[in-house]
Amino acid sequence: MPAAAPWPSSTRRTATGEMSIGGVAVTDLAATVGTPVYLVDEDDMRARARRMREAFTDAAGRVGTDAEVYYAGKAFLSRAVARWMVAEGLRIDTASLGELTTALEAGVEGALIGLHGNNKSDAELDLAIERGVGRIVVDSLPEVDRVARVAAVAGVVAPVMLRVTTGVHAGGHEFISTAHEDQKFGLSIHAEDERGQSPAMRALHAILSRPELDLIGIHSHIGSQILDATGFTAAAAALVELRAALERETGHLVGELDLGGGIGVAYLPGEDEPDVAAFARSIVDAVAQACRDTDTPVPHLSFEPGRSIAAPAGITLYTVGTIKDVRLEDGGHRRYVAVDGGMGDHIRTALYGAEYHAELVSRASAAAPVLCRVVGKHCESGDIVVRDVMLPGDIAAGDLLAVAATGAYGRSMASTYNLVPRPGVVAVREGTATTIVRRESVADLLALDLG
Ligand SMILES: *Cc1c(COP(=O)(O)O)cnc(C)c1O
Repeated sequence: MPAAAPWPSSTRRTATGEMSIGGVAVTDLAATVGTPVYLVDEDDMRARARRMREAFTDAAGRVGTDAEVYYAGKAFLSRAVARWMVAEGLRIDTASLGELTTALEAGVEGALIGLHGNNKSDAELDLAIERGVGRIVVDSLPEVDRVARVAAVAGVVAPVMLRVTTGVHAGGHEFISTAHEDQKFGLSIHAEDERGQSPAMRALHAILSRPELDLIGIHSHIGSQILDATGFTAAAAALVELRAALERETGHLVGELDLGGGIGVAYLPGEDEPDVAAFARSIVDAVAQACRDTDTPVPHLSFEPGRSIAAPAGITLYTVGTIKDVRLEDGGHRRYVAVDGGMGDHIRTALYGAEYHAELVSRASAAAPVLCRVVGKHCESGDIVVRDVMLPGDIAAGDLLAVAATGAYGRSMASTYNLVPRPGVVAVREGTATTIVRRESVADLLALDLG
């Protein structure tokens, strides 16, 4: 039976209380590769990718269309991960020269890659066009000319989508809808001038006027860690209406709508993960309904999940060091459990108060649990890994602690603050551990320091 969320599906506990993932005991792993280290359950990550593709393909099939799933590489990308995703029938979504190059170096065909970015560099556009990426997602009006120029120089017609903002925001358990957006991505579908033309519509017309560009789709990404499909269904209807309006104005019917990523996951025990199949059906059915309402054909669909594929398949393994009981104003105590990493490898808690779960994983303990705060080794009091968690009262230096659901936005957001090298990533599967990203060393950091 798969382990319960938020742990990877192959997580087990031996009779002595030791955790294993992918058939590899965490104590063996810590002894051979050291800590901190990120572990990824390869089979779990691949199964999540496969389920995501099947969910959207099935939902699309029910309304007479098809769907592609692009894995959002920013969640966590390495060459191995890119190959796993493509092997499971997904494509790769990238948003920088590093992500794009990593996908290409993994052997992913350009046609299966998308390029995003609100401020793409010349190098990113040049490489994308040279390697024939399947879509460049245009994010601003000036970018229409930039992409057209690069395509003209290369003598190709570049496939582009336009990223729009619908006023729909979801994530972090809330859903809001406003007419105007105060953020850097995309172009609003709402009119902002006396002529009544929206920035999105103006950009769509500009793209259609350029023979070097092929307008293949319209894109919307409404947020992240979304646990309810309502925001997606509202955005879907808005995209269908925009597509219908463009067809009325120009006769051009856009072939594809992309509804972005953002499907949420369970981070804590007892939290429910969204049912991906039901989620996919709600979104796709909303598209189909809006198409009936506007009397337009159902478009091809695409989606860009990252977190929901990567986060639950990964954990971070730390060794416990200093333990300190601090007396609180109210007379109580808080136990600070310091680990050998921290905000350098795990920024989301410090950055936006994300909640995580941790457990003692190197042994069983019958000691009564105490309220603890797991902190790192960095020189900042905000260096918190898990704000509040119950851990056995006998937790001690040398114990191994695992933090669950760190597979997305963990390694990919890591820094070398305090010149602490970043942990490596080890894939575990059927009793075998394979390092897919090696641990950084102080020598690696010094190699950049020209003295
Ligand atoms: C971040 C992002 C995604 C992935 O979001 P998740 O929450 O990881 O699923 C997809 N598309 C775009 C454009 C993004 O910016």
